Amino acid sequence: MNFKQIASYDNYMLANMTMGLMTENDIKCQLKDENIVTMDPLLNAAVGGIKLLVEEKDYDKALALMIEAENDYLKDIPCPSCKSLSLTVEEKTNAPADFWDKLKNQVLFGQTSTYKKGYRCANCKKYFSELPPSF
Ligand SMILES: [Zn+2]
Repeated sequence: MNFKQIASYDNYMLANMTMGLMTENDIKCQLKDENIVTMDPLLNAAVGGIKLLVEEKDYDKALALMIEAENDYLKDIPCPSCKSLSLTVEEKTNAPADFWDKLKNQVLFGQTSTYKKGYRCANCKKYFSELPPSF
């Protein structure tokens, strides 16, 4: 069986919630490094958080579920700026074909393509790199 990392969490509760969602939908998954993180949160940064792994054949399905769940969750989070319930996920992949742009990414981020995720309010158009703490 081949497992593939689909996400990483610094929050044990969130990792477990996502795992519950996968299990409900018959997707086999497992958490990696959860013991280390739970025992010693300070080690979290060192191991890169709790990793959620799913079976490779279920990867696409699992990813779609996660996006759906996140959008569902966002519906109840007011925009920190205008308080409207209009937040959407905004994902940006920067995978340049140009040699110099690749080199720039390599130097700045240690890899040739970068991925960034944030949230944008559809109402006031403000961009947030992180969600406001909700619990
Ligand atoms: Zn707003």
